[in-house]
Amino acid sequence: MNRGLLGSLALPLLLASCVTSSEVSNVAPNHKPKLDSVEAGLWFQVEKMEKRLANSQIVERDAELNQYLNEMICRVSPDYCANTKLYILKQPYFNATMTPNGTMNIWVGLLLRAQNEDQLASVIGHEMAHYNARHSLKKWNNAKALTDFLAFFSIATGGIGFGLVGAMANVGAYGSLQAYSRELEEEADLEGLKLLYKANYDVTEAVTIWENVEAETNADKDATDRTAEDVFWATHPLTKNRIVNIRKWGEELMDGKTHFPSKSNNRFRKIKRKWAHVWVADLLKVTKLEKAVVVLKQQQGVSLKEAEVLYYEGEAYRRRGEPGDLETALTKYKEALTLDNIYKKTYRSMALVSRRLGDNKAAKDYFEQYLQQNPTARDKSLINTYIQQLRT
Ligand SMILES: [Zn+2]
Repeated sequence: MNRGLLGSLALPLLLASCVTSSEVSNVAPNHKPKLDSVEAGLWFQVEKMEKRLANSQIVERDAELNQYLNEMICRVSPDYCANTKLYILKQPYFNATMTPNGTMNIWVGLLLRAQNEDQLASVIGHEMAHYNARHSLKKWNNAKALTDFLAFFSIATGGIGFGLVGAMANVGAYGSLQAYSRELEEEADLEGLKLLYKANYDVTEAVTIWENVEAETNADKDATDRTAEDVFWATHPLTKNRIVNIRKWGEELMDGKTHFPSKSNNRFRKIKRKWAHVWVADLLKVTKLEKAVVVLKQQQGVSLKEAEVLYYEGEAYRRRGEPGDLETALTKYKEALTLDNIYKKTYRSMALVSRRLGDNKAAKDYFEQYLQQNPTARDKSLINTYIQQLRT
């Protein structure tokens, strides 16, 4: 969202009057704000953003995926199910947000990283808790907070029209972006866990997904400001006590019981297997190698086989292409082949790397093996051209 648009959206909220946090009660199902209220101003802004989003290429419209997530939202928060509108955004970063009028944005980067349905539900539960308690109204209850509000929710819409890097550009532009206060985040964590518990999800998985995302972030040792690179941290700061609290509250809720049987995980796994390759390809386009490798390893045995993890690690090294990376990529591909020699793209990648390393004979052989395994490959004529060139 650019500054020009922010300016044009500003007026209605400036006209709205102020309320204090203590006056804000939980949202009632089917709630509509009074016309002259601050809340009506907030809704006006997000509805405008939503209109842009509804027509955007960034929205994933696959019917099965949308239905699956809509059913999950209804399971986590049955009372507000009818008031929630879902948009799945084709952004490979870990993030989910909820606007004051019940629009939930789930980024595919979250779907990629969740290792089971319970983890995914924990993020949905957290966002539903922000919505149920009307945290946006508690935070942006005066006109001065307008710029922060619009920045927050323009990031929620995933940088419409800016492609994969759009959201990051927005985070950069609003470097001082304010998240919800610590108090509101804690409330969303706790109330979100209660929603999960009621929905018969395993609340302890909420800890695991936070730890996984933290491990991914920490893998980038050179990062000077992680909020500038990780959109989720910009809006959900990982305070020292956050994971500790989530673990403690989760254990209290479970009260010594072991895991609930997770009835839906077969469906989760089927969907993950179907989409993982699409989402990983986008992840590799935007994420630093060290972080991508952590995400890939977390998916081993979930949505990716070991051979596939090795193949994608190879792709990450090939893409970066720093000294020694092409050799490492080749080693990863070869290792992948020892585990599973049917993964179709491996030989092509090996050929491309060998060609860049100047080993024309190996490159030609690998291209030929690729075509042998994929006789109807879409890039067949291009590969044949490469083979011809390598012969001369
Ligand atoms: Zn939050």
